[in-house]
Amino acid sequence: MKQALFDISDRLALVTGSSRGLGNALARGLAHQGARVILHGRDLDKVKAEADKVAQDTGATVEAISFDVTDANATKQALETLIDNYGTPDILINNAGLQRRAPFNEFDTADWDALIATNLSSLFYVSRALTPAMSERGSGKIINIGSVQSKLARETIAPYSATKGGVALLTQGMAADLARFNIQVNCISPGYFKTEMNTALWQDPAFNQWVEKRTPAQRWGHFDELVGTLIYLCSGASSFVSGQNIFVDGGMTSVV
Ligand code: NDP
Repeated sequence: MKQALFDISDRLALVTGSSRGLGNALARGLAHQGARVILHGRDLDKVKAEADKVAQDTGATVEAISFDVTDANATKQALETLIDNYGTPDILINNAGLQRRAPFNEFDTADWDALIATNLSSLFYVSRALTPAMSERGSGKIINIGSVQSKLARETIAPYSATKGGVALLTQGMAADLARFNIQVNCISPGYFKTEMNTALWQDPAFNQWVEKRTPAQRWGHFDELVGTLIYLCSGASSFVSGQNIFVDGGMTSVV
């Protein structure tokens, strides 16, 4: 009984943006628990190579898929093929994302558009391509990846914050529409984790100092610290939990 509560073995999970970084760590976390995982990114060769590594490291069945999440038509087509090949995913992790930094007065329109497309519109494109089949089946778990910027702003990243605030509210809206089909939609909002996206930050001693001072845990997060919350939200343990945003941030968003 204890084990069954968090059991996700043999569930089919698609993790967008899992060629590296947090998405890769989330995919590995699911694979370690026995889920069948589909890795994703834009470069199929890179995703395939990563899928082989994850399969080798975890013993799980791992597939690879590539499409640009900012392209609504390509996304729809790729996910139709995915359903034909593997079936309808039980779990969708909307993780693919992008960062662009500049003072607000100098922020580029193309960067604004890229942020909205990658961090917000893509969640709509990917989810809407899968939720009709999930609804018909009568089950599904969708986890959107937010950020501490789903709640708090910071200089030079106003557009990113707008997208992540949008992710939190999109989560609630999707929960409102989809709970009746036994699809739970929740959000995980990570604090600061060292990935390619924020190389400029963790290579800057002043920023490191700021993170350590600003975070009650006094450090950056470790990738595997996201996995427990992920498994909870992907398993039967959260069958009546929907529309929630869980911050995995060492306490950062709880303090001024
Ligand atoms: P990385 O830059 O390390 O990884 C981003 C991933 O998204 C890659 O796999 C990349 O694949 C994929 N991706 C980006 N754009 C597209 C696209 N147009 N189409 C398909 N795939 C795309 O970022 P992180 O791991 O740091 O971030 C992952 C998520 O976590 C993001 O949503 C981010 O906002 C969020 N986050 C990260 C935090 C951190 O501290 N790192 C903190 C809070 C939230 P490829 O380039 O191979 O195509």
